Amino acid sequence: MRLVRYDDNRLGLLKEQHIHDVSSVVDRIPASKWPHPPGDALIAALPELRADIEEMADQAPTIPLGEVTLLSPVASPSKIIAAPVNYMLHLEEARGDAAINYGMPVKTIDELGLFLKSPSSLVGAGEGVERHFPDRRIDHEIELAVIIGRGGYQIPAERVFDHVAGYCIGLDMSVRGTEDRSWRKSLNSFTVLGPALVTPDEIDDPDALSFRLEVNGEPRQASNTQHLVFNVARLIAYAAATYTLHPGDIILTGTPEGVGPVVPGDVMHCFIDQLGTMDVSVTEPAVHHAAVA
Ligand code: MN
Repeated sequence: MRLVRYDDNRLGLLKEQHIHDVSSVVDRIPASKWPHPPGDALIAALPELRADIEEMADQAPTIPLGEVTLLSPVASPSKIIAAPVNYMLHLEEARGDAAINYGMPVKTIDELGLFLKSPSSLVGAGEGVERHFPDRRIDHEIELAVIIGRGGYQIPAERVFDHVAGYCIGLDMSVRGTEDRSWRKSLNSFTVLGPALVTPDEIDDPDALSFRLEVNGEPRQASNTQHLVFNVARLIAYAAATYTLHPGDIILTGTPEGVGPVVPGDVMHCFIDQLGTMDVSVTEPAVHHAAVA
């Protein structure tokens, strides 16, 4: 199953290149009272709603994928967990390039642990990435994103896949500089998720997915998740060893070599085998003065 969120918070089942509008299923998400349980209520209810969604999709109106604005398939993660350096060739390129490391030692994932990105940084492919600082280098990092389904804490390694709702393409956008990762990677629009949440039954092996990123048609990153230093299962167990995972939590598994700068006007074309493609535009920062309800 491939779930998309689009336009004005509509929910759709993606089949081929068409979205089947199943938005009315959200009325069946169990109501909750304050304090609402942490995490995404739709992802939490997905096991119960899945049959309804598939049945509803057959009768639903459809719209071509290219005609909608894609939002993040996960609306409300409690946290975005990310692996700092999880491909050896990216470690080598970061060590060798002062424009990436800013003179700071580049350590391994064993030394660094994990880091957190703000959930407010999350957008969908159709929303695009804003360059907040015209004088700072902003890099693309394409990553396999794991979406947690059932929550858990201290999950044994052999049980981690019982806790996975699905997978997405992720972009861990980064300002290069000396500031802490949690600042440089948490700017508004600096986490992109899409195009769809793809459930595990659609994926052969999350540790054998080839992927690539092009900017305006120019190849930049190309690798395969078989090169992960901590593979998907180990990363989930590593995260759950110290963080309680909630439904909808996102784990960005790390980026391979080939990171590079983008500027407004660029389009990042992202592809992960079996997960689809997404085009993400880089824009000048909009002038915001928004009160958010
Ligand atoms: Mn990253």
